[in-house]
Amino acid sequence: MSAKYVYLFSEGNGKMRELLGGKGANLAEMTNLGMPVPQGFTVTTEACTRYYEDGKTIAPEIEAEIFTYLKTLEEMTGKTFGSKENPLMVSVRSGARASMPGMMDTILNLGLNDEVVEGLSALTQNERFAYDSYRRFIQMYSDVVCELPKSHFERIIDEMKEKRGVQHDTELTAADMKELVSLFKAAYKEMMKEDFPSDPREQLMGAIKAVFRSWDNPRAIYYRRMNDIPSSWGTAVNVQSMAYGNMGDTSGTGVAFTRNPATGEKKLYGEFLMNAQGEDVVAGIRTPQTIDQLRDVMPEVYEQFAAIAEKLEKHYHDMQDMEFTIERGKLYMLQTRNGKRTAAAALKIACDLVDEGMITKEEAVLMVNPKSLDALLHPQFDPAALKAAKPIGSALPASPGAACGRVAFSAADAVKMIEETGDPVVLVRLETSPEDIEGMHVSQGILTARGGMTSHAAVVARGMGTCCVAGCGDIVIHEDEKLFQLGGKTIHEGDYISLDGTTGNIYGEAIKTVPATISGDFGRLMGWADEIRQLGIHTNADTPQDAQQALDFGAEGIGLTRTEHMFFGADRIRPMRKMILSKTEEQRRKALAELLPMQRGDFEGIFEVMHGLPVTIRLLDPPLHEFLPKEESDIEEIAGEMGLSAVEVKDTITSLHEFNPMMGHRGCRLAVSYPEIAEMQTRAILEAAINVSKKHPGWKIVPEIMVPLAGEVKELAYVKSIIVDTANKLFDEVGSKVDYLVGTMVEVPRAALTADEIAQEAEFFSFGTNDLTQMCMGFSRDDAGRFLGVYYDKKLYEQDPFARIDQKGVGKLVEMGVQLGRKTRPDIHLGICGEHGGDPSSVEFFHRVGLDYVSCSPFRVPVARLAAAQAAIRFPR
Ligand code: ADP
Ligand code: MG
Ligand code: MG
Repeated sequence: MSAKYVYLFSEGNGKMRELLGGKGANLAEMTNLGMPVPQGFTVTTEACTRYYEDGKTIAPEIEAEIFTYLKTLEEMTGKTFGSKENPLMVSVRSGARASMPGMMDTILNLGLNDEVVEGLSALTQNERFAYDSYRRFIQMYSDVVCELPKSHFERIIDEMKEKRGVQHDTELTAADMKELVSLFKAAYKEMMKEDFPSDPREQLMGAIKAVFRSWDNPRAIYYRRMNDIPSSWGTAVNVQSMAYGNMGDTSGTGVAFTRNPATGEKKLYGEFLMNAQGEDVVAGIRTPQTIDQLRDVMPEVYEQFAAIAEKLEKHYHDMQDMEFTIERGKLYMLQTRNGKRTAAAALKIACDLVDEGMITKEEAVLMVNPKSLDALLHPQFDPAALKAAKPIGSALPASPGAACGRVAFSAADAVKMIEETGDPVVLVRLETSPEDIEGMHVSQGILTARGGMTSHAAVVARGMGTCCVAGCGDIVIHEDEKLFQLGGKTIHEGDYISLDGTTGNIYGEAIKTVPATISGDFGRLMGWADEIRQLGIHTNADTPQDAQQALDFGAEGIGLTRTEHMFFGADRIRPMRKMILSKTEEQRRKALAELLPMQRGDFEGIFEVMHGLPVTIRLLDPPLHEFLPKEESDIEEIAGEMGLSAVEVKDTITSLHEFNPMMGHRGCRLAVSYPEIAEMQTRAILEAAINVSKKHPGWKIVPEIMVPLAGEVKELAYVKSIIVDTANKLFDEVGSKVDYLVGTMVEVPRAALTADEIAQEAEFFSFGTNDLTQMCMGFSRDDAGRFLGVYYDKKLYEQDPFARIDQKGVGKLVEMGVQLGRKTRPDIHLGICGEHGGDPSSVEFFHRVGLDYVSCSPFRVPVARLAAAQAAIRFPR
C-alpha cells in the first residue's frame, strides 16, 4: 500500500492537525464550512519526516503526487501553472501542528516568470499589479529559499523611492516595478552566481524543500525546546492558489482576532491595508487601518467578515486569529487558528466563554497554559511607566517579573542597604554563590554578568520568585569602585535601576511596579482548578514570609522546609561555624545549644503562619564546608572566639574539603556522624510545635520530620532512632507531647530501588527529584549547563532534565518508589519536592504515577494547581 502524502483542502478536516498541520487542518475545516477559501492542497507532516529519512530529499513518488494534485488544482481553478494565457499562481506556506514562529516565511505569487508576468498583466489589464507581484515573489524566494539577505532587496526599493522622490511603495509606477524586477534578478544572479529559476515547477519544489528544511533551523529548534514540541512532529506545507490584495483600491489584506488578545475584551480586533499583500500589515510599511474602519470602506465585506468570524469562534469554541485578503471587493479567508493571548486575556476569555455557555469549566481550565500564569504572579511594571522607559542593555530573561531598586554590589551590601534605607534593592553581581542567598532573598531583582539559564542565580531566583536577568556579557562591573557601565551609562551603588525578567531588558532608571494578586477571573479559574484536581499542592518554603506568599497563592501545606538556609544569617553563621570546627562532641553540643533557640524560633514562625496545615521539615542536608569562612578576616575572627589559631582553623577547613561534595559527607550522613545535630533539630521542631499548639489549641500541628539522602534502611532506622529518643526525652521533660511523623526524602537511586525496605521505617516519602535526577543521570545540575547545550544541538536530549522530569529514567525510579513504598505501607504519604513540582508536564506525570501531592516554590503554586487540574481532566484516576 502506498501512503498518501498530499490532501486537497476539501479532503481534509480540522481533526487532522497531526497530518496536515494546524494551518492545513483549519484551511480544510473552513473549506468544509463553506467559507471562501482559495483552493489548494497540503503536503503532510509525514512527507516532512520522509524528507529527513531520505537524506533531505523529496522522494520521486511524493514529487509525482504533488504534481498530480497541482493538476487537480488547475482543473478546479480553471487556470494553468506557468501558462501565459490564464496563469495559476500559488502561495507556499509552512504549517506545523502547533503554530511555531521561527519557521519558514511564506512565499507568495509563486509561478511567475518573465512570460507569465506578461500574461498576468494582459489578463488583469494591470501591469503595475503584475510586476509588483513578480518583484515580491523574487524577493521572498531569494530570502526564504536561498537565504539571501532581505535587507539587500529593501535597499534597492529604498533607492528607487528616493530617486522617484516618493514615500510609499504604492506610489511606485508600473515602470518602476518592472525596473525593480530586473534589478532584483541581477542582484540574485550576482549573489547566487546563477539565473533566477524561471521554471515554475522548479520554483515549487525549491519552496517545498525550503519549508521542510526550515523545520530544523536554529530558531525553530530553540522554540521547540522552550515549548515542549518534539522534533519528530515535522511540518506540513500548504500550496494555495493566490488571492490578490494588491490589485488596486478595492483590494486589500488584513488580520483580525474575534476578541482583544491583550485584554480579552469581546470585540473584533484587527487591522487591514488596502492595495497590499501578505504581511504588509505587520511589516509596518504603511500605517494600517483598524478593522472598524473596514465597515466604512467596504461595508458588505465587513459584514461578511464579521459573520464568518463569529461562526468560526462558535465552531472552535475559542477566540480566533484570522487572516484574510480582499481581491477586487471579494473576501477570501486565508487562515484561522486559536489566537495567542496574554495571560490576562486568556483568563478573561476562558471565564467569558463559560458564561456565554460556549465551553464547560473543564474546557476553560484546559484553555489556559499554566506556564503563562507566571507572568501574572510577579510584580509588574506599570504599563505607562514602562512605555516611557528605554533599556540600556539586555541579557537572559532568567526569572520573570519586574524589579526596581537601588544597586548593591554584594549580598552583604544589599542587606545593609535595606536595613539602613528601607528602599528596595537590586543585586548586581558577576555571578552568585550559595552564601549570597540572604542578599538574593531580600533583593527585588538580581542581575549577573556571567552564567546562563541554569546558573546559580537563575535557579535560585526562579525558586524564590525573584526577578533575575542573567549573563549580561556587555556589562562592565567595577566592584571596588562600586559602579558598573552598560549601554554608555555609568551606574553607582545606590542608583536606581529596573530589570524586566520576562524580556531580559535592563533599565538605568526607576520604573514603577505594581504587586500581583489572584482575584477576579484569575481567582474564578483557580477555583475551578481546585475543584477538579486530585493532587495536593504544597510548597517549598524556608521562611514564614515564603510560607505566607505560598498560602496566598493557594498552597495546602509545606512539602519542604530546608533548614540549612536558616544558618546563613549574620547571628547564626558564627555558632554554626563553631559547631563545625569543634574538635569534641562537648564543644559541638555547646555551639548547637546556641543555635537551638534560633531554630525553634524559625519553626514557630512557620507553624504560626501555617495554622496547622502539614509542614515537612528536612534535617540538615548540605556538606558542612559550605558554611565555612573563606575570607582571612572571618577565619581569624572565628579562631579567636574558639581559642584556636588561624592555622588550626585553616587545617580543619582543608580537612573538610571534598572532591565531590554532592556525593560526599552530607544528608543523613551528617546525622550518622554527629547525632547531636539531628537531636538539636528534632528538639527545635518539636518544642516549636508544642509551643504553638499551646497557643492555638484548635490547630492540629503534626510536624513531618524528613531525613535527607537515605539510601539504606538501616541508616534511616538509625537516624529515626535518634529522632524518636529525642522526642520521648523531650515529651517527658515538658510533660506534654505532639504527634509527629518521620519520613525520608527519596533522592538516592538506591532508596527508590529498595523503597519497600525503606518504607518499613519511613511514614512518608518525598521524592527529591533534583538530587534523584543528578544521581540517576550521573551529572550535576550545576555543571550540566556547560554541555547540555551541545546535547540539544545534536538532538541527543530535547529537554533540560532538571526542569522537566525525565520520565523514562528518573520517572521510573519515582514510579518504582511509589509502588514498592505502598506495598509495604499502603497508607504511606507520597509527594515530590524538586524543582519539577512546578513544571506542568512533570506535574502531569506525578499525577499519573499516583502521588498524593507535589511541592513547589511559592510562585509556582498557581501553576501547579492549574497543571494538576489539567492532568486530572486528561488522565482521570
Ligand atoms: P504565517 O504562518 O507567518 O502567518 P502565512 O502562511 O499565514 O504565514 O502567510 C502570511 C500571509 O501571506 C498571509 O497572512 C496572507 O496575507 C498571505 N498569503 C498566504 N497565502 C496566500 C494566498 N494564497 N493568497 C493571498 N495571500 C496569501
Ligand atoms: Mg498566517
Ligand atoms: Mg537533595
